[in-house]
Amino acid sequence: MTNAAVLVLNRHYQPIHVTNARRAFSLLYLGVARVIDPEFKTFDFDTWADLSVELGSGDDVMRTVNRAIKIPRVIVLQLYDRIPKTKVRFSRHNIYMRDASTCQYCGEELPRAELNLDHVIPRAQGGRTTWENVVCCCIDCNLSKGARTPEQAGLKLLKVPMRPRWTPTFRTNGGRVRYREWLPFLGLADASYWNVELKD
Ligand SMILES: [Zn+2]
Repeated sequence: MTNAAVLVLNRHYQPIHVTNARRAFSLLYLGVARVIDPEFKTFDFDTWADLSVELGSGDDVMRTVNRAIKIPRVIVLQLYDRIPKTKVRFSRHNIYMRDASTCQYCGEELPRAELNLDHVIPRAQGGRTTWENVVCCCIDCNLSKGARTPEQAGLKLLKVPMRPRWTPTFRTNGGRVRYREWLPFLGLADASYWNVELKD
């Protein structure tokens, strides 16, 4: 259908996560969520679907049998007070997102299947499996590094690996926020929530 992504806010307009268009429409259709437009007006499914008759050329749409409905960029949940996750999940996916699928030694951007995760300080030397010690790495660099530190192997990290301050899925692989329409909400969150220093 489309790979458009939809930002989901809780009732307090805090971003919770990112979902796909199909899931967003089902939340709207069930009345569990409303659309928010760039003027901060909210719409239920029917009013949004009626509005969608006037589509702009840059809009992502979902087509049904007899009409096209504009895919919202942001929706707000009506019922739940889900709290945003305090921690970005330490997962393979999120490490690839943080490092933009780029080998952190040679700088090559590769498909995920051609990337490994590398312990900067090898486990054999006491290195831990943490945000600060695991990076994306191409297979060549991984092999040539072996069980050595970057210094021992004559390699240099492109940047110091850190725990991301917010969920990487809000951003594209290139590190930019995915849609302009998300910015007001991520900005709010940045000030009020996501900038808080997290304890381990
Ligand atoms: Zn490499």
